[in-house]
Amino acid sequence: MDFRDNVGILDRQGGTKRMYPKSVDGFLFKARSIFGYSLLVFLFVAPFLKVDGQPLLLFNILERKFIIFGQLFFPQDFPIFALAMLIFIVFIVLFTVVFGRVFCGWACPQTVFMELIFRRIEYWIEGDANAQRRLNEGKWTNEKIWKKTLKHALFWIISFLIANTFLAYLVGIDELQKLTTHSPFENIILFVSLVIFTTVFYYVFAHFRELVCIIVCPYGRLQSVLLDNRSIVVAYDFVRGEPRGKINKNEAVVTPPKGDCIACGLCVQVCPTGIDIRNGTQLECINCTACIDACDEVMVKIGRPKKLIRYDSIDGITQKKPLQFTARIAAYTTVLVLLVSVLTYLLASRKAVEMVVLRAQGLLYQQPDALTISNLYNLELMNKTAQKLDLTLKLKNEIGSIRFVNVNQSASITVQGQEVFKTSFFILIPKKNLHTYKTKLQIEAYTNGKLMTVTETSFASP
Ligand code: SF4
Ligand code: SF4
Repeated sequence: MDFRDNVGILDRQGGTKRMYPKSVDGFLFKARSIFGYSLLVFLFVAPFLKVDGQPLLLFNILERKFIIFGQLFFPQDFPIFALAMLIFIVFIVLFTVVFGRVFCGWACPQTVFMELIFRRIEYWIEGDANAQRRLNEGKWTNEKIWKKTLKHALFWIISFLIANTFLAYLVGIDELQKLTTHSPFENIILFVSLVIFTTVFYYVFAHFRELVCIIVCPYGRLQSVLLDNRSIVVAYDFVRGEPRGKINKNEAVVTPPKGDCIACGLCVQVCPTGIDIRNGTQLECINCTACIDACDEVMVKIGRPKKLIRYDSIDGITQKKPLQFTARIAAYTTVLVLLVSVLTYLLASRKAVEMVVLRAQGLLYQQPDALTISNLYNLELMNKTAQKLDLTLKLKNEIGSIRFVNVNQSASITVQGQEVFKTSFFILIPKKNLHTYKTKLQIEAYTNGKLMTVTETSFASP
Protein backbone atom coordinates (compact mmCIF):
# COMPACT_ATOMS: atom_id res chain seq x y z
CA MET A 1 0.00 0.00 0.00
CA ASP A 2 3.06 2.25 -0.29
CA PHE A 3 1.52 4.00 -3.29
CA ARG A 4 -1.29 5.41 -1.09
CA ASP A 5 1.23 7.33 1.02
CA ASN A 6 3.54 8.56 -1.72
CA VAL A 7 3.40 10.58 -4.88
CA GLY A 8 5.39 8.69 -7.50
CA ILE A 9 7.05 11.83 -8.79
CA LEU A 10 8.19 13.10 -5.34
CA ASP A 11 10.84 11.71 -3.02
CA ARG A 12 10.52 11.24 0.76
CA GLN A 13 11.85 14.77 1.41
CA GLY A 14 9.26 16.30 -0.93
CA GLY A 15 11.76 16.97 -3.71
CA THR A 16 10.88 16.06 -7.28
CA LYS A 17 12.23 12.94 -8.92
CA ARG A 18 13.24 13.17 -12.55
CA MET A 19 10.92 10.91 -14.55
CA TYR A 20 12.27 8.91 -17.47
CA PRO A 21 9.18 7.44 -19.17
CA LYS A 22 10.01 4.96 -21.89
CA SER A 23 8.90 5.89 -25.38
CA VAL A 24 5.80 4.05 -26.56
CA ASP A 25 4.28 3.75 -30.00
CA GLY A 26 0.95 1.92 -30.09
CA PHE A 27 -2.47 2.37 -31.65
CA LEU A 28 -3.73 4.80 -29.00
CA PHE A 29 -0.56 6.90 -29.16
CA LYS A 30 -1.03 7.22 -32.94
CA ALA A 31 -4.72 8.15 -32.50
CA ARG A 32 -3.82 10.69 -29.80
CA SER A 33 -1.09 12.12 -32.01
CA ILE A 34 -3.48 12.71 -34.92
CA PHE A 35 -5.98 14.39 -32.62
CA GLY A 36 -3.35 16.36 -30.68
CA TYR A 37 -1.48 17.64 -33.76
CA SER A 38 -4.82 18.73 -35.29
CA LEU A 39 -5.51 20.77 -32.13
CA LEU A 40 -2.03 22.30 -32.32
CA VAL A 41 -2.49 23.30 -35.97
CA PHE A 42 -5.75 25.04 -35.05
CA LEU A 43 -4.14 26.71 -32.02
CA PHE A 44 -1.26 28.17 -34.02
CA VAL A 45 -3.26 29.08 -37.15
CA ALA A 46 -6.40 30.57 -35.51
CA PRO A 47 -4.78 33.93 -34.52
CA PHE A 48 -4.09 34.60 -38.23
CA LEU A 49 -7.68 33.90 -39.32
CA LYS A 50 -10.06 36.83 -39.74
CA VAL A 51 -13.80 37.23 -40.29
CA ASP A 52 -14.85 40.54 -41.92
CA GLY A 53 -11.42 41.95 -41.05
CA GLN A 54 -11.77 40.96 -37.38
CA PRO A 55 -9.90 38.14 -35.59
CA LEU A 56 -11.63 34.78 -35.48
CA LEU A 57 -10.83 34.56 -31.76
CA LEU A 58 -9.76 37.32 -29.37
CA PHE A 59 -9.77 37.36 -25.58
CA ASN A 60 -8.59 40.88 -24.80
CA ILE A 61 -9.11 40.93 -21.05
CA LEU A 62 -7.45 44.33 -20.52
CA GLU A 63 -9.71 46.14 -23.01
CA ARG A 64 -12.62 43.84 -22.09
CA LYS A 65 -13.15 42.94 -25.75
CA PHE A 66 -13.88 39.36 -26.76
CA ILE A 67 -14.40 37.99 -30.25
CA ILE A 68 -15.54 34.39 -30.63
CA PHE A 69 -15.82 33.05 -34.17
CA GLY A 70 -16.08 36.61 -35.49
CA GLN A 71 -18.81 37.65 -33.02
CA LEU A 72 -17.93 40.58 -30.77
CA PHE A 73 -18.79 40.37 -27.08
CA PHE A 74 -18.65 43.32 -24.68
CA PRO A 75 -18.67 43.31 -20.85
CA GLN A 76 -22.43 43.86 -21.21
CA ASP A 77 -22.60 40.30 -22.59
CA PHE A 78 -21.30 39.01 -19.27
CA PRO A 79 -24.44 36.85 -18.65
CA ILE A 80 -23.68 34.98 -21.88
CA PHE A 81 -20.06 34.45 -20.79
CA ALA A 82 -21.04 33.36 -17.31
CA LEU A 83 -23.54 30.89 -18.75
CA ALA A 84 -21.01 29.57 -21.28
CA MET A 85 -18.53 29.01 -18.41
CA LEU A 86 -21.21 27.23 -16.39
CA ILE A 87 -22.02 24.99 -19.35
CA PHE A 88 -18.32 24.26 -19.79
CA ILE A 89 -18.00 23.24 -16.12
CA VAL A 90 -21.16 21.07 -16.20
CA PHE A 91 -19.96 19.50 -19.45
CA ILE A 92 -16.56 18.72 -17.92
CA VAL A 93 -18.26 17.25 -14.81
CA LEU A 94 -20.67 15.17 -16.90
CA PHE A 95 -17.90 14.06 -19.18
CA THR A 96 -15.70 13.12 -16.23
CA VAL A 97 -18.48 11.17 -14.49
CA VAL A 98 -18.86 9.05 -17.62
CA PHE A 99 -15.43 9.03 -19.26
CA GLY A 100 -13.04 9.90 -16.42
CA ARG A 101 -10.03 12.06 -17.29
CA VAL A 102 -10.13 11.44 -21.01
CA PHE A 103 -9.82 15.22 -21.56
CA CYS A 104 -6.43 15.23 -19.78
CA GLY A 105 -4.96 12.57 -22.05
CA TRP A 106 -6.39 13.75 -25.36
CA ALA A 107 -7.03 17.49 -25.33
CA CYS A 108 -5.37 19.20 -22.37
CA PRO A 109 -2.78 21.68 -23.75
CA GLN A 110 -0.28 20.63 -21.05
CA THR A 111 -0.37 16.96 -22.13
CA VAL A 112 -0.54 17.73 -25.84
CA PHE A 113 2.49 20.05 -25.74
CA MET A 114 4.43 17.86 -23.31
CA GLU A 115 3.86 14.48 -24.94
CA LEU A 116 3.65 15.48 -28.60
CA ILE A 117 6.27 18.20 -28.82
CA PHE A 118 8.68 18.53 -25.89
CA ARG A 119 8.97 14.82 -25.05
CA ARG A 120 9.38 13.93 -28.76
CA ILE A 121 12.29 16.41 -29.05
CA GLU A 122 13.86 14.90 -25.95
CA TYR A 123 13.64 11.36 -27.36
CA TRP A 124 15.00 12.60 -30.67
CA ILE A 125 18.06 14.32 -29.15
CA GLU A 126 18.81 12.34 -25.99
CA GLY A 127 17.39 8.94 -26.86
CA ASP A 128 14.96 6.73 -24.92
CA ALA A 129 14.59 6.56 -21.12
CA ASN A 130 17.82 4.69 -20.31
CA ALA A 131 19.94 6.85 -22.62
CA GLN A 132 18.47 9.98 -21.01
CA ARG A 133 19.22 8.67 -17.52
CA ARG A 134 22.80 7.81 -18.48
CA LEU A 135 23.28 11.22 -20.05
CA ASN A 136 21.93 13.10 -17.04
CA GLU A 137 23.89 11.09 -14.50
CA GLY A 138 27.10 11.09 -16.54
CA LYS A 139 29.92 13.62 -16.65
CA TRP A 140 29.81 16.75 -18.80
CA THR A 141 31.32 15.57 -22.06
CA ASN A 142 31.24 17.30 -25.46
CA GLU A 143 28.32 15.06 -26.44
CA LYS A 144 26.35 16.00 -23.30
CA ILE A 145 27.05 19.72 -23.81
CA TRP A 146 25.83 19.85 -27.42
CA LYS A 147 22.83 17.63 -26.73
CA LYS A 148 21.72 19.71 -23.75
CA THR A 149 22.40 22.98 -25.60
CA LEU A 150 20.41 21.86 -28.63
CA LYS A 151 17.51 20.54 -26.56
CA HIS A 152 17.17 23.62 -24.37
CA ALA A 153 17.60 25.97 -27.33
CA LEU A 154 14.72 24.20 -29.09
CA PHE A 155 12.67 24.30 -25.88
CA TRP A 156 13.21 28.08 -25.64
CA ILE A 157 12.26 28.61 -29.30
CA ILE A 158 9.07 26.57 -28.96
CA SER A 159 8.21 28.29 -25.66
CA PHE A 160 8.70 31.62 -27.45
CA LEU A 161 6.30 30.51 -30.21
CA ILE A 162 3.73 29.37 -27.65
CA ALA A 163 4.06 32.68 -25.76
CA ASN A 164 3.54 34.60 -29.03
CA THR A 165 0.46 32.54 -29.84
CA PHE A 166 -0.89 32.99 -26.34
CA LEU A 167 -0.43 36.77 -26.58
CA ALA A 168 -1.96 36.81 -30.07
CA TYR A 169 -5.17 35.50 -28.52
CA LEU A 170 -5.00 38.23 -25.87
CA VAL A 171 -4.10 41.32 -27.90
CA GLY A 172 -4.61 40.23 -31.52
CA ILE A 173 -2.03 39.33 -34.15
CA ASP A 174 -1.86 42.90 -35.56
CA GLU A 175 -0.85 44.34 -32.21
CA LEU A 176 1.68 41.57 -31.70
CA GLN A 177 3.21 42.10 -35.15
CA LYS A 178 4.07 45.67 -34.15
CA LEU A 179 6.72 44.16 -31.89
CA THR A 180 8.57 42.91 -34.96
CA THR A 181 8.43 46.26 -36.76
CA HIS A 182 8.82 48.69 -33.84
CA SER A 183 11.29 49.05 -31.01
CA PRO A 184 10.37 46.96 -27.92
CA PHE A 185 10.46 50.20 -25.90
CA GLU A 186 7.45 51.48 -27.88
CA ASN A 187 5.42 48.59 -26.52
CA ILE A 188 7.25 47.70 -23.37
CA ILE A 189 4.32 45.99 -21.58
CA LEU A 190 3.79 43.59 -24.47
CA PHE A 191 7.51 42.93 -24.76
CA VAL A 192 7.87 42.21 -21.03
CA SER A 193 4.78 39.96 -21.16
CA LEU A 194 6.34 38.02 -24.03
CA VAL A 195 9.55 37.50 -22.07
CA ILE A 196 7.65 36.42 -18.93
CA PHE A 197 5.35 34.00 -20.78
CA THR A 198 8.27 32.49 -22.71
CA THR A 199 10.15 31.90 -19.45
CA VAL A 200 7.09 30.39 -17.74
CA PHE A 201 6.35 28.04 -20.65
CA TYR A 202 10.01 27.01 -20.85
CA TYR A 203 10.15 26.29 -17.11
CA VAL A 204 6.87 24.31 -17.19
CA PHE A 205 7.84 22.10 -20.12
CA ALA A 206 11.55 21.74 -19.39
CA HIS A 207 11.44 21.26 -15.62
CA PHE A 208 8.05 21.41 -13.89
CA ARG A 209 6.31 19.01 -16.29
CA GLU A 210 3.90 16.47 -14.72
CA LEU A 211 3.82 18.44 -11.45
CA VAL A 212 1.39 20.78 -13.23
CA CYS A 213 -1.10 17.89 -13.47
CA ILE A 214 -0.42 16.51 -10.00
CA ILE A 215 0.01 19.62 -7.87
CA VAL A 216 -1.31 22.66 -9.74
CA CYS A 217 -4.28 21.53 -11.84
CA PRO A 218 -7.55 21.62 -9.84
CA TYR A 219 -9.25 19.28 -12.31
CA GLY A 220 -7.11 16.32 -11.22
CA ARG A 221 -8.07 16.98 -7.61
CA LEU A 222 -11.78 16.77 -8.51
CA GLN A 223 -11.44 13.18 -9.66
CA SER A 224 -12.02 11.65 -6.27
CA VAL A 225 -15.49 13.22 -6.02
CA LEU A 226 -16.49 12.76 -9.66
CA LEU A 227 -15.46 9.21 -10.40
CA ASP A 228 -17.38 6.15 -9.30
CA ASN A 229 -17.28 2.44 -10.15
CA ARG A 230 -19.15 3.08 -13.39
CA SER A 231 -16.82 5.79 -14.74
CA ILE A 232 -14.65 4.80 -17.67
CA VAL A 233 -10.99 5.17 -16.72
CA VAL A 234 -7.66 3.71 -17.75
CA ALA A 235 -7.88 0.51 -15.71
CA TYR A 236 -5.94 -2.67 -15.17
CA ASP A 237 -8.10 -5.82 -15.44
CA PHE A 238 -7.03 -7.35 -12.13
CA VAL A 239 -9.57 -10.18 -12.56
CA ARG A 240 -7.73 -11.34 -15.63
CA GLY A 241 -4.25 -10.18 -14.65
CA GLU A 242 -3.90 -11.55 -11.09
CA PRO A 243 -2.15 -13.38 -9.65
CA ARG A 244 0.65 -11.90 -11.64
CA GLY A 245 3.90 -13.74 -12.13
CA LYS A 246 7.03 -13.78 -14.25
CA ILE A 247 6.80 -15.89 -17.33
CA ASN A 248 9.22 -18.77 -17.52
CA LYS A 249 10.78 -18.76 -20.96
CA ASN A 250 11.21 -22.52 -20.84
CA GLU A 251 7.51 -23.11 -20.16
CA ALA A 252 5.47 -23.40 -23.36
CA VAL A 253 2.31 -22.61 -21.41
CA VAL A 254 2.25 -20.72 -18.11
CA THR A 255 1.10 -23.01 -15.37
CA PRO A 256 -2.04 -21.97 -13.46
CA PRO A 257 -2.93 -20.15 -11.28
CA LYS A 258 -0.91 -17.33 -12.84
CA GLY A 259 -2.94 -14.49 -14.36
CA ASP A 260 -2.15 -12.70 -17.61
CA CYS A 261 0.14 -10.06 -16.05
CA ILE A 262 3.72 -11.26 -16.39
CA ALA A 263 5.03 -8.56 -14.04
CA CYS A 264 7.31 -7.15 -16.74
CA GLY A 265 6.83 -3.62 -15.33
CA LEU A 266 6.60 -2.03 -18.77
CA CYS A 267 3.33 -0.26 -17.90
CA VAL A 268 5.18 1.48 -15.04
CA GLN A 269 8.25 2.29 -17.13
CA VAL A 270 6.19 4.17 -19.75
CA CYS A 271 4.12 6.14 -17.23
CA PRO A 272 5.05 9.85 -17.27
CA THR A 273 3.77 10.32 -13.71
CA GLY A 274 5.58 7.28 -12.37
CA ILE A 275 2.58 5.32 -11.10
CA ASP A 276 1.68 1.66 -11.30
CA ILE A 277 -1.83 1.45 -12.76
CA ARG A 278 -2.11 -2.09 -11.39
CA ASN A 279 -2.68 -0.45 -7.98
CA GLY A 280 -5.94 1.02 -9.28
CA THR A 281 -7.07 4.50 -10.35
CA GLN A 282 -4.85 7.17 -8.85
CA LEU A 283 -4.93 10.95 -8.79
CA GLU A 284 -1.69 11.12 -10.78
CA CYS A 285 -3.08 9.19 -13.77
CA ILE A 286 -3.54 11.66 -16.62
CA ASN A 287 -5.10 9.03 -18.92
CA CYS A 288 -2.24 9.30 -21.40
CA THR A 289 -2.88 5.67 -22.47
CA ALA A 290 0.86 4.88 -22.65
CA CYS A 291 0.40 1.90 -20.31
CA ILE A 292 -2.41 0.52 -22.53
CA ASP A 293 -0.17 0.61 -25.61
CA ALA A 294 2.79 -0.84 -23.69
CA CYS A 295 0.81 -3.72 -22.19
CA ASP A 296 -0.85 -4.51 -25.54
CA GLU A 297 2.62 -4.84 -27.03
CA VAL A 298 3.57 -7.30 -24.27
CA MET A 299 0.35 -9.31 -24.69
CA VAL A 300 0.95 -9.64 -28.43
CA LYS A 301 4.50 -10.86 -27.78
CA ILE A 302 3.39 -13.56 -25.32
CA GLY A 303 0.35 -14.54 -27.38
CA ARG A 304 -2.39 -13.46 -24.97
CA PRO A 305 -5.42 -11.23 -25.66
CA LYS A 306 -4.77 -7.48 -25.70
CA LYS A 307 -6.48 -4.97 -23.38
CA LEU A 308 -5.27 -6.27 -20.03
CA ILE A 309 -5.01 -2.52 -19.37
CA ARG A 310 -7.81 -0.69 -21.16
CA TYR A 311 -10.51 1.98 -20.97
CA ASP A 312 -13.09 0.37 -18.68
CA SER A 313 -14.97 0.90 -15.41
CA ILE A 314 -14.44 -1.04 -12.19
CA ASP A 315 -17.93 -2.55 -12.63
CA GLY A 316 -17.04 -3.41 -16.21
CA ILE A 317 -14.00 -5.35 -14.97
CA THR A 318 -15.53 -7.08 -11.96
CA GLN A 319 -19.07 -7.70 -13.25
CA LYS A 320 -18.54 -7.39 -17.00
CA LYS A 321 -21.18 -4.62 -16.96
CA PRO A 322 -21.42 -2.27 -19.96
CA LEU A 323 -21.68 1.51 -19.47
CA GLN A 324 -25.02 2.42 -17.88
CA PHE A 325 -27.08 5.62 -18.09
CA THR A 326 -27.33 6.24 -14.34
CA ALA A 327 -29.58 8.70 -12.47
CA ARG A 328 -26.53 10.92 -11.88
CA ILE A 329 -25.74 11.06 -15.60
CA ALA A 330 -29.43 11.78 -16.35
CA ALA A 331 -29.47 14.66 -13.82
CA TYR A 332 -26.29 16.25 -15.21
CA THR A 333 -27.56 15.81 -18.78
CA THR A 334 -30.88 17.52 -17.95
CA VAL A 335 -29.08 20.48 -16.37
CA LEU A 336 -26.73 20.68 -19.37
CA VAL A 337 -29.60 20.62 -21.90
CA LEU A 338 -31.42 23.37 -19.97
CA LEU A 339 -28.33 25.57 -19.80
CA VAL A 340 -27.53 25.08 -23.49
CA SER A 341 -31.15 26.00 -24.38
CA VAL A 342 -30.89 29.25 -22.40
CA LEU A 343 -27.52 30.06 -24.00
CA THR A 344 -28.93 29.39 -27.48
CA TYR A 345 -31.83 31.75 -26.75
CA LEU A 346 -29.48 34.47 -25.44
CA LEU A 347 -27.22 34.19 -28.50
CA ALA A 348 -30.15 34.16 -30.93
CA SER A 349 -31.77 37.21 -29.31
CA ARG A 350 -28.48 39.08 -28.99
CA LYS A 351 -28.73 42.50 -30.69
CA ALA A 352 -26.16 43.95 -33.08
CA VAL A 353 -26.46 47.27 -31.24
CA GLU A 354 -26.66 47.64 -27.49
CA MET A 355 -27.85 50.91 -25.94
CA VAL A 356 -27.61 52.07 -22.33
CA VAL A 357 -29.36 55.32 -21.36
CA LEU A 358 -29.04 56.69 -17.82
CA ARG A 359 -30.35 59.96 -16.46
CA ALA A 360 -27.48 62.33 -15.55
CA GLN A 361 -26.89 62.18 -11.81
CA GLY A 362 -27.66 65.20 -9.65
CA LEU A 363 -29.98 66.85 -12.20
CA LEU A 364 -33.73 66.47 -12.01
CA TYR A 365 -35.09 68.55 -14.90
CA GLN A 366 -34.56 71.86 -16.69
CA GLN A 367 -36.94 74.42 -18.14
CA PRO A 368 -35.33 75.80 -21.33
CA ASP A 369 -38.44 77.89 -22.00
CA ALA A 370 -41.86 78.49 -20.51
CA LEU A 371 -43.50 75.69 -22.52
CA THR A 372 -40.83 72.91 -22.40
CA ILE A 373 -39.19 70.60 -19.85
CA SER A 374 -35.86 68.88 -20.57
CA ASN A 375 -33.87 66.06 -18.92
CA LEU A 376 -30.20 65.29 -19.44
CA TYR A 377 -29.12 61.69 -20.15
CA ASN A 378 -25.84 59.82 -20.58
CA LEU A 379 -25.76 57.48 -23.58
CA GLU A 380 -23.58 54.44 -24.32
CA LEU A 381 -24.00 52.86 -27.76
CA MET A 382 -22.20 49.62 -28.57
CA ASN A 383 -21.85 48.62 -32.20
CA LYS A 384 -21.18 44.86 -32.12
CA THR A 385 -20.92 44.56 -35.91
CA ALA A 386 -17.71 45.03 -37.89
CA GLN A 387 -19.28 47.81 -40.01
CA LYS A 388 -19.73 51.50 -39.29
CA LEU A 389 -23.36 52.31 -38.40
CA ASP A 390 -25.28 55.61 -38.68
CA LEU A 391 -27.79 55.50 -35.86
CA THR A 392 -30.80 57.73 -35.37
CA LEU A 393 -32.48 57.94 -31.99
CA LYS A 394 -36.21 58.49 -31.65
CA LEU A 395 -38.73 58.63 -28.85
CA LYS A 396 -41.20 55.85 -29.42
CA ASN A 397 -44.41 57.80 -28.85
CA GLU A 398 -42.91 60.98 -30.35
CA ILE A 399 -44.09 63.20 -27.50
CA GLY A 400 -40.81 65.12 -27.56
CA SER A 401 -37.43 65.41 -29.27
CA ILE A 402 -33.79 64.42 -28.71
CA ARG A 403 -30.91 66.91 -28.84
CA PHE A 404 -27.30 65.81 -28.46
CA VAL A 405 -24.92 67.88 -26.34
CA ASN A 406 -21.63 67.36 -28.16
CA VAL A 407 -22.44 65.72 -31.49
CA ASN A 408 -24.78 67.90 -33.53
CA GLN A 409 -28.26 69.24 -33.32
CA SER A 410 -29.86 66.21 -34.98
CA ALA A 411 -30.43 62.87 -33.32
CA SER A 412 -28.12 60.98 -35.69
CA ILE A 413 -24.68 59.63 -34.73
CA THR A 414 -22.04 57.43 -36.34
CA VAL A 415 -20.56 54.53 -34.39
CA GLN A 416 -17.53 52.76 -35.85
CA GLY A 417 -17.56 48.96 -36.10
CA GLN A 418 -16.92 47.16 -32.80
CA GLU A 419 -16.74 50.41 -30.88
CA VAL A 420 -18.51 51.96 -27.94
CA PHE A 421 -19.72 55.53 -28.42
CA LYS A 422 -20.44 57.66 -25.37
CA THR A 423 -22.17 61.00 -25.31
CA SER A 424 -24.93 62.97 -23.56
CA PHE A 425 -28.24 64.22 -24.85
CA PHE A 426 -31.33 66.13 -23.78
CA ILE A 427 -34.87 64.97 -24.19
CA LEU A 428 -37.19 67.93 -24.60
CA ILE A 429 -40.92 67.48 -24.07
CA PRO A 430 -43.62 70.16 -24.28
CA LYS A 431 -45.34 70.61 -20.91
CA LYS A 432 -48.72 69.84 -22.45
CA ASN A 433 -47.57 66.28 -23.17
CA LEU A 434 -46.55 65.60 -19.56
CA HIS A 435 -49.24 64.32 -17.21
CA THR A 436 -47.18 62.96 -14.31
CA TYR A 437 -43.95 63.92 -12.53
CA LYS A 438 -42.29 60.71 -13.86
CA THR A 439 -43.07 59.73 -17.43
CA LYS A 440 -41.86 56.39 -18.82
CA LEU A 441 -40.14 56.71 -22.19
CA GLN A 442 -38.90 54.27 -24.78
CA ILE A 443 -35.92 55.30 -26.93
CA GLU A 444 -35.38 53.53 -30.24
CA ALA A 445 -32.21 53.37 -32.35
CA TYR A 446 -32.64 53.04 -36.15
CA THR A 447 -30.21 52.39 -38.99
CA ASN A 448 -31.55 53.11 -42.49
CA GLY A 449 -35.09 52.87 -41.12
CA LYS A 450 -34.43 49.50 -39.45
CA LEU A 451 -35.05 49.27 -35.71
CA MET A 452 -31.80 48.03 -34.11
CA THR A 453 -32.58 48.29 -30.41
CA VAL A 454 -34.88 49.90 -27.89
CA THR A 455 -34.35 50.87 -24.26
CA GLU A 456 -36.48 52.31 -21.48
CA THR A 457 -35.88 55.32 -19.27
CA SER A 458 -37.90 57.82 -17.27
CA PHE A 459 -38.44 61.57 -17.64
CA ALA A 460 -38.75 63.82 -14.60
CA SER A 461 -40.96 66.89 -14.62
CA PRO A 462 -42.54 69.25 -12.03
S1 SF4 B 1 2.72 -4.22 -18.98
FE1 SF4 B 1 1.01 -5.62 -18.71
S2 SF4 B 1 2.01 -7.53 -18.32
FE2 SF4 B 1 3.58 -6.02 -18.01
S3 SF4 B 1 3.44 -5.54 -15.82
FE3 SF4 B 1 2.11 -4.12 -16.84
S4 SF4 B 1 0.11 -5.07 -16.75
FE4 SF4 B 1 1.59 -6.68 -16.32
S1 SF4 C 1 -1.21 5.06 -15.49
FE1 SF4 C 1 -1.19 4.78 -17.70
S2 SF4 C 1 -2.65 6.28 -18.46
FE2 SF4 C 1 -2.20 6.82 -16.35
S3 SF4 C 1 -0.59 8.36 -16.54
FE3 SF4 C 1 0.41 6.37 -16.26
S4 SF4 C 1 0.77 5.62 -18.31
FE4 SF4 C 1 -0.67 7.28 -18.50
